[in-house]
Amino acid sequence: MQIYNTMTKKKEIFEPHEKNKVRIYVCGPTVYDYIHIGNARPMIVFDTFRRYLEFLSYEVIYVSNFTDIDDKIIKKANDSNMTTKEITEKYIRECKTDMENLNIEEATYNPLATEEVDSMIEFISNLISKGYAYKVEDGTVYFDTSKSVEYGKLSHKNIDELKSGYREIKITGEDNKKNRNDFVLWKPMKEGEPYYDSPFGKGRPGWHTECCVMAPKYCGGVLDVHAGGEDLIFPHHENEIAQFEALFEKPYSKYWMHNAFLNINNEKMSKSLGNFFIVRDVLNKFDGNVLRLFMLSTHYRTKLNFSFELMESAKSAYERIKNCVNNIKFLILNSGNSVVPINLKEKIFYNKDEFNEYLNDIKLCDDFNENEKEVINKVIEHIEKYFKSLDDDLNTADAISEIYEVVRIANQNLKDNDELIYMLFLYDIIGMMLTILGIEIVEDRDIDIDVEKYIEERNEAKKNKDYKKADEIRDFLLTKGIELEDTRQGVKWRKI
Ligand code: AMP
Ligand code: ZN
Repeated sequence: MQIYNTMTKKKEIFEPHEKNKVRIYVCGPTVYDYIHIGNARPMIVFDTFRRYLEFLSYEVIYVSNFTDIDDKIIKKANDSNMTTKEITEKYIRECKTDMENLNIEEATYNPLATEEVDSMIEFISNLISKGYAYKVEDGTVYFDTSKSVEYGKLSHKNIDELKSGYREIKITGEDNKKNRNDFVLWKPMKEGEPYYDSPFGKGRPGWHTECCVMAPKYCGGVLDVHAGGEDLIFPHHENEIAQFEALFEKPYSKYWMHNAFLNINNEKMSKSLGNFFIVRDVLNKFDGNVLRLFMLSTHYRTKLNFSFELMESAKSAYERIKNCVNNIKFLILNSGNSVVPINLKEKIFYNKDEFNEYLNDIKLCDDFNENEKEVINKVIEHIEKYFKSLDDDLNTADAISEIYEVVRIANQNLKDNDELIYMLFLYDIIGMMLTILGIEIVEDRDIDIDVEKYIEERNEAKKNKDYKKADEIRDFLLTKGIELEDTRQGVKWRKI
């Protein structure tokens, strides 16, 4: 597998420190409000990366923090007459609810900044002792970037240029740090704000220190992948690297992955422009699987444009896949065999080896007729392309195109008298391709009637030759957006 490393600006072969283990740290949200759909992008992207790594049999340690001490949290607490703890607990809970609805697997650890302050104080003290940090008059402790020779290596910024602009700021008296890029390690206490005692006075740690103390601690010493949105490359990740490498004199993370931004109708999402959407509101209109399919249909390093129109197209695409899966399921269940198909919510193949074994069995199986064999071979070609896409810097957009191809082939090549093993093959393959991307086939949540009950009543009416009643039931269901189809196996229904 190859992934693009922001540090080298190249796609590199992915080789974690330990052969079968991957340690990932993803910068999480600051918890003072509901998460917005921009925040959901790194969550979905890196959750998919993790799922794929797990499918490739890696043990994954996945760490993502909640920033629970910050100016915005303090402001929100003051504005709403709550403590900062009450605010952060509430929004962590709400965030976890949204993540669950987006099928995001639980992280191995979700460390909280407020619970790691002692380690951060120790970290900052060590930086001061080593001569990399200094305290100014007002009590702020800064990191001295002039001591860090490689400063700028992640963001590929021209640091000399940044430096030359600094004199101006200094003259206006806005800043009392030594160099323009020096950043805060410790903020002195302000009246009415929460604080911690430290050898450098009462105050609280800066944001950049938070991640670079928690990431190695929870990942077990070394990091394979450090990830987040592209806005974090500079200064956040650059500053994490500067501190960590100053103190430990070894590379902080082997790979750096960043997702591009999500925009709204090609504009930056912002509250003031009135184009700001929280995940909760979008999920009131669309299923989490549709939002997931929508986000993964664009490669993670490409800007993603969000609009409700585009979400409608994603919904239609999802319905197309779902109708295909439900159709195969129906044929299997009504094929007269007593085999109960696997629930698509479960992982169908736990890892690629298990899948390859299954594929070998399929290739060796001689129960198929010529047409079925041809279809199976075509599908296998698409599966190979699917994996090739994921191996190429997690190209989920191309991988999803391969799912559409398999769905198209299945729709064209399924009949009610097909071999059970052939139908199961198509069912399992589509299920596997979806499961790796964290997409589930769910029954409609917005259907408020018991369709099966009406179908039974209609069958009864037909048996009694009461065709008028049977037609009435069919028409009634149509008004509810349910279409019936009479087949030799029985009545099939789908949402239109
Ligand atoms: P924040 O709470 O602003 O620190 O953001 C948490 C995560 O969401 C970070 O990885 C950000 O880079 C990411 N993020 C924030 N806004 C967007 C956006 N509009 N598009 C993509 N990612 C974003
Ligand atoms: Zn971070």
